Amino acid sequence: MIVVMTPSATEQQLQHVIDLVEEYGLKSHVIKGTDRTVVAAVGDKRNVDKGAIENVEGVEKIVPILAPYKVASKEVKKDRSVIELAPNGPTIGTEKLAMIAGPCSVESREQILEVAPLLKEAGATALRGGAFKPRTSPYSFQGLGEEGLKILAEARDMTGLPIVTEVMTNSQVQMVSEYADVLQIGARNMQNYNLLEAVGKQPKPVLLKRGMSSTLEEFLLAAEYIINAGNPNVILCERGIRTFEEYCRNTQALSIVSAVKRVSHLPIVIDPTHGTGHAYMVEDMTLAAIAIGADGVIVEVHPDPEHALTDAAQQINPKEFKKLMERSARVATAVDKVL
Ligand code: PEP
Ligand code: MN
Repeated sequence: MIVVMTPSATEQQLQHVIDLVEEYGLKSHVIKGTDRTVVAAVGDKRNVDKGAIENVEGVEKIVPILAPYKVASKEVKKDRSVIELAPNGPTIGTEKLAMIAGPCSVESREQILEVAPLLKEAGATALRGGAFKPRTSPYSFQGLGEEGLKILAEARDMTGLPIVTEVMTNSQVQMVSEYADVLQIGARNMQNYNLLEAVGKQPKPVLLKRGMSSTLEEFLLAAEYIINAGNPNVILCERGIRTFEEYCRNTQALSIVSAVKRVSHLPIVIDPTHGTGHAYMVEDMTLAAIAIGADGVIVEVHPDPEHALTDAAQQINPKEFKKLMERSARVATAVDKVL
């Protein structure tokens, strides 16, 4: 339920409501909007006396949250969330698009230090690259692990670009959180609830990829786990879902952007790379993502895609990325956004 405070409610009255909500065994999330503050009280409400809270001074009314996800829902927070990708760094969720780019995997120091400045020059917002890779086959390249994180950190020092990288297990969370600016949860881990809670307990923002067979409701409930654990900075990422179709690796459900905006305050980016699986489709899909109102994209760019150790078919090269950025800027203007 949402406890809506009166516009003139004092800090003490707000604190009293928080204490009361927590006394009932519920979790409280305070959301300060432009004209009033609300307290989202989530948890098992069987023993809660709503009337008692309603009578507290400074409370205007109590509204039930109808959606199954609560703190990820627009019912709780009308204003769209703006998230800093790094402290005092670029944000996501405004008219400025987040153009996140970089190779699928960190393969070597040379590879990352070659591509990172080119991405920066083309106008990228952040650098992506996997140090821990979730591979379908145990015989495929699994990533460089901590060495890969160190290379990414060096590229950040060189370019100033914040780093987005995947964390696959609870045991990696602390280490990845020390190096990275944004922690990525891969599609295969979207329903790894222990991992979601673990990234919810660390301070860096989380880029949460949609599971390849997950519904929007399951996706937002996964985000809810992270927020509930204490981290409100969740960026949703649509990376395509499994369908019967064979001309593309996944089917990119672009309309999810409109659906997310209707029901949630969280920013959403599109991954046109995994969403299509083919380098030749990436630019078109990026333009479509911007046109439909996504808050940004996450694109795989490799300095030499033909020799990429992972996802070779879908990575574009830096020259193609530059062109993608130029065309994206024009589409952005048409929908009142900037790159
Ligand atoms: C990736 O971003 O390289 C990746 C493995 O993506 P996904 O989890 O969407 O398959
Ligand atoms: Mn990949």
